[in-house]
Amino acid sequence: MNLNNVVAALRKVVASAGWKTTYNPNDLRDAISYLFAKDSQTKAKEDVTLKGYRTVSDLKELDPRGLFYSFEAKDKGWGNKLPEEDFIAELEDDMQRPGFFAWVKDEHSKGQLAPLITINGQIGDGLGRAMFFHAIGQDVKVAEFETKYDLDSALLLRGGKPMNHLIAALREVITSSAKIKSKLPSYQKLIVESFVAFLMEKYAVTENVEINIGKPTKKQQFGSIDLGSFIKGRYKIKVSAALTTSLMLSYIGHEFMHLVQYLRNDLQVDLETKQILWQGKPFMNIEDYGKVTQYAEYAKIPWEAEAIQTGKDLVKEFENSKQMDELKASDDPSIKYLVKNDMLLL
Ligand SMILES: [Zn+2]
Repeated sequence: MNLNNVVAALRKVVASAGWKTTYNPNDLRDAISYLFAKDSQTKAKEDVTLKGYRTVSDLKELDPRGLFYSFEAKDKGWGNKLPEEDFIAELEDDMQRPGFFAWVKDEHSKGQLAPLITINGQIGDGLGRAMFFHAIGQDVKVAEFETKYDLDSALLLRGGKPMNHLIAALREVITSSAKIKSKLPSYQKLIVESFVAFLMEKYAVTENVEINIGKPTKKQQFGSIDLGSFIKGRYKIKVSAALTTSLMLSYIGHEFMHLVQYLRNDLQVDLETKQILWQGKPFMNIEDYGKVTQYAEYAKIPWEAEAIQTGKDLVKEFENSKQMDELKASDDPSIKYLVKNDMLLL
């Protein structure tokens, strides 16, 4: 990317749009650093092209991932109702950058405030400015860039308050540890990934979980866990692909509950005595457990009873989760179609 060429092209666009300000090349570097944070040095040299400028009236449109959650709740123009000092103080408290908004306000009054920068629709730089425009009830000016690179969704959560960084870092640890192997259609994979991210966060599971979604097994099991792998610190869950989406999720939820039971030490395996222990007491031996075929008998086993119930509840809870909101905002055309027709979890 030749910044000078971009700047020259930008000046033309800006002039025709009647804006006094253009994006700031330093902001663009910041944006690239944020969004390619893992590899900012090399990625900063890669292609990032300007698509154009636009104004955005609703902050939420700019923020599908909830970076602004702490102040999106405030009405547009909220700052106009406060005395100037209080208004600036509140913004600075939100952003935890003393002096920053006094500067922003000053730049704005001189007409020198650069538009914020998005890359592939994600804010890379100008979070504070977006907050400021929202607070004074004005539309947000945006310079939109595109890159062919797929931005790591976890990194997109960077920015905003220091707490946001912390949450993002935690979320990265939590969500990066689930590996999903499947040959599902891409939209269904997105749904499963979203559900698993929800489970990992809900139960604060940070182990390396592996979920295999494949052909049904000969034993006609729709889902299973590998207790042997658990003992070795590898958490493997298998679920059949030959299920409707909602059933697939409830089986994943069911098997995931066994993992949770194991991690909280309610479900244990003693390889010497070949016993499965429930809440510290031997309940049945491994071989007998494998032979249970009657549903009534199976449903009486305490870890199964809990997993049967929770598996279903978890899908319902997922429907009202933050992860579901994020999923619904996906650009995937199939997801969009399913959402529109209320068929996402059929
Ligand atoms: Zn089970």
